[in-house]
Amino acid sequence: MLSVQIGALDRGPVEVSGIVACDDPLFDGVGFELGESVRVSGRLSGATVGRFYWKGRIATTVRATCRRCLVATALGIDVRVDAMFTDSQDAEDPSEYVVPQGAGLIDLREVIREELILATRQFVLCREDCNGLCQTCGIDLNLHSCDCRPSLDPRWSALETMKTESGEQDYNGSSQEKNL
Ligand SMILES: [Zn+2]
Ligand SMILES: [Zn+2]
Repeated sequence: MLSVQIGALDRGPVEVSGIVACDDPLFDGVGFELGESVRVSGRLSGATVGRFYWKGRIATTVRATCRRCLVATALGIDVRVDAMFTDSQDAEDPSEYVVPQGAGLIDLREVIREELILATRQFVLCREDCNGLCQTCGIDLNLHSCDCRPSLDPRWSALETMKTESGEQDYNGSSQEKNL
């Protein structure tokens, strides 16, 4: 049950739990694929007048590309959710979900979609210490190494040249001393 009649909340908190299938149209256009159905649980309670909150959990597996090296990877997601709903149609807090006027019920599906997008964006890495791609040649630094070095600021390379020149002078000087 992923939607709750607002009237029911007048009598106290309501436990929610349910499953959303991975091919549910809810996930159209999210930018990742679900590896299994989404398990949802928690509790929906009334807050101040016209406001309600859902404290719960969303768990599933998504298939997406590592945000550093772009390799396809599967990621287990298990996030805690604290979502606030309001029936005020001109609510200004963007973190609150507005209950459509006259709906009479709170539907958790939009929150589920949003939270999954958020979690996927934040966490998709093939592994914690992924080296990513070389910024210069694009090679996968987990599999290969390359000779690219971070490009130097021209001012620094001018400084490098000066250092090298003065170093040579010193060397010449000391060798001359030796010859004497
Ligand atoms: Zn990676
Ligand atoms: Zn490179």
